[in-house]
Amino acid sequence: MSVLVTGGAGYIGSHMVAELIEAQEDVVVVDNLEKGHKEAVLGGKFYYGDLRDNEFLDKVFKENDIEAVIHFAAYSLVGESTGDPLKYYNNNVVSTLNLLTKMKEYGVNKIVFSSTAAVYGEPEQVPIRENSRTQPSNPYGETKLAIEKALKWADSAYGIKYVSLRYFNAAGAHISGKIGEDHNPETHLIPIVLQVALGKREYVTIFGDDYETHDGTCIRDYIHVTDLAQAHILALKQLREKGESSIYNLGNGQGFSVKEVINAVGEVTGVKIRTEIGARRHGDPAVLVASSDKIKKELNWKPVYNDLRTIIETAWKWHKRHPDGFKS
Ligand code: UDP
Repeated sequence: MSVLVTGGAGYIGSHMVAELIEAQEDVVVVDNLEKGHKEAVLGGKFYYGDLRDNEFLDKVFKENDIEAVIHFAAYSLVGESTGDPLKYYNNNVVSTLNLLTKMKEYGVNKIVFSSTAAVYGEPEQVPIRENSRTQPSNPYGETKLAIEKALKWADSAYGIKYVSLRYFNAAGAHISGKIGEDHNPETHLIPIVLQVALGKREYVTIFGDDYETHDGTCIRDYIHVTDLAQAHILALKQLREKGESSIYNLGNGQGFSVKEVINAVGEVTGVKIRTEIGARRHGDPAVLVASSDKIKKELNWKPVYNDLRTIIETAWKWHKRHPDGFKS
């Protein structure tokens, strides 16, 4: 039986495929390659197509004995989502509804869902716990919350069990340096600062230095992409062994400001990073830091690359070897 990974050619999805192969799982990957890279898929059976295409999805389910789904395929940019919310609803929500409908049709009853800290919006207390208020401050977070709600009802009506993982800021790259982050255009902080270190950009713009934080810049909780992928393996195990639905945060529980991240990149790379202060990015909460106690306690999740320096070092290895991403 196989594990279907949607969005398996994307940044997090490709690291997931690598871990599943390492764990000797049979893997089927689906990706429309709009954002993903075929070269990032280190194994498994690959299908090129879109989850909104019913005939395509049916073919994937018909040709494979799918036991469980790990669902990454989605748009994930906060800024873009505020400018074009319907694009986000269409891709994120419609795709997932199609996928769930197909799972129901083929009797597949396990899904690990890639959710986000953006479901919380501006938090009432920090660190954020799973039972904190969910009030997204951008359409991206709204689409993920809408899916979490659909999952709850699909569970009670059809017995589809889910684990929803609310990621904080995924960062870093595979320890081998073979796969890593490659977005075009790049919008994420760490790869952008590394591009400055590589001389591919002149400076990094800090989106706002007037937030109510110790240095005025936004605080985020960075988690290594392989630690994130490992949490999905544990989630899958729990669905197989216990068949219980749950929601977990995934972060390191430590917040770093944008300025602190830039300084850390400067230290790791030995390059002085030029910065410029810009306007706030619409939809950005000031502070997002997770409590991941629940997944540590219930699933025995133990992050390995849990300090910012190590996370940046793995990303730096990837970017140095692949200055033009998968093209190089
Ligand atoms: N950020 C920034 N300049 C950039 C990119 C990001 O100041 O060029 C900030 C952004 O406002 C946020 C943090 O860095 O506070 C992390 O942003 P990223 O896009 O990496 O992840 P997100 O928090 O949106 O998931």
